[in-house]
Amino acid sequence: MKAIAVTDGDTRPQIIEKPAPEPDEGEALVRTLRVGIDGTDFEVIEGNHGGFPDGDDHQVLGHETVGVVEDANGTELEDGQLVVPTIRRPVGESNAFFDRDEPDMAPSGTYVERGIDGAHGFMAEYFTSPPRYLVPIQAEFADVGVLVEPMSNTAKALDHAFASRSAFEWEPETALVLGNGPLGLLTLAMLDSTVDRTYCLGRRDRPDPTIDIIEKLDATYVDSRTTPVAEIQEQYEPVDLAYEATGYAKHAYETVDVLAPNGVGVLLGIPGDWSFEIDGGRLHREIVLSNKALLGSVNSHVTHFEMAKESLAKLPEWFLEDVITDVFTPEEVDDAFERGDDRIKTVIEFDTL
Ligand code: NDP
Ligand code: ZN
Repeated sequence: MKAIAVTDGDTRPQIIEKPAPEPDEGEALVRTLRVGIDGTDFEVIEGNHGGFPDGDDHQVLGHETVGVVEDANGTELEDGQLVVPTIRRPVGESNAFFDRDEPDMAPSGTYVERGIDGAHGFMAEYFTSPPRYLVPIQAEFADVGVLVEPMSNTAKALDHAFASRSAFEWEPETALVLGNGPLGLLTLAMLDSTVDRTYCLGRRDRPDPTIDIIEKLDATYVDSRTTPVAEIQEQYEPVDLAYEATGYAKHAYETVDVLAPNGVGVLLGIPGDWSFEIDGGRLHREIVLSNKALLGSVNSHVTHFEMAKESLAKLPEWFLEDVITDVFTPEEVDDAFERGDDRIKTVIEFDTL
């Protein structure tokens, strides 16, 4: 079968031939329809994130996937069922986090991540998986189901953010999303029905397709080059909820200044090492005296995929069409991994229903 993989010492993903996987007992065989590409794939390709499966000289990419059950193989799934796989698998048999269905909270070393760290991904014509890691989705999501995994990361992050404010009466009216990449835009659309006023931070000039989407969602575009994060509360208003999806490390701390009293900032970006100066005393004091919370969130599991499915069903049709900007065949792998400001979510299509 065809697969898209990065090989040891290579800096570009290639199409390779691999034997199609045979499902073990207790596993289903899934035929891949579409796989989305995101920033994490580029980090894997560049060798900055994750690592190859033990003993292999290549890693099959892909973690944002929708597929169809080709052979349920005696599991509770049904042939023809559309599914989205989760990413983490236990190292060894299992561990407490997986037994509790909370692998997204597991410490590193206790799991591998398919397509990212230590396990092959889903960018191939077929893959196998135990059914507990396959989330059934509606048949009408064959084209847009690739958005379930990234949206599930937001579903989890927002769940934790709201839980952190659950000890008192908290009704957020305003939200700021830092970052206009795919994660930021999906989050902005998901927040549209939750809060009254939304803002989205980027660093692009108009005309730009992401700014068009921000404005079509009735959100306010904020350019970080002219309005630094710390000035947003003066120029616009303080926000109850801030969601960081830039990976720009200073934003983690600047978030404290943009929050209204009792607000929460949730951090998703995964920056590299970077030393810079901040007034730690002032930020510490501000967090304490204004009852603010800052929290980090990574990965997601089945409950968050279920939440993401519900959110996806509510997103407007125009938004889904505007966000999935490019669809390529596996043979067009070189084009698929080009980057550009006109691209938001790029997808590789292996097959259709
Ligand atoms: P992208 O890199 O596509 O998006 C980041 C966006 O932030 C880009 O549009 C970029 O603008 C913008 N940006 C970066 N720096 C600034 C700045 N100083 N001011 C204004 N805008 C800025 O990534 P994704 O959307 O896919 O993901 C966002 C982040 O979340 C990444 O760091 C990613 O690694 C992480 N991530 C975390 C997950 C988790 O579970 N915690 C899951 C998935 C992703 P421009 O394009 O113009 O450069
Ligand atoms: Zn991703």
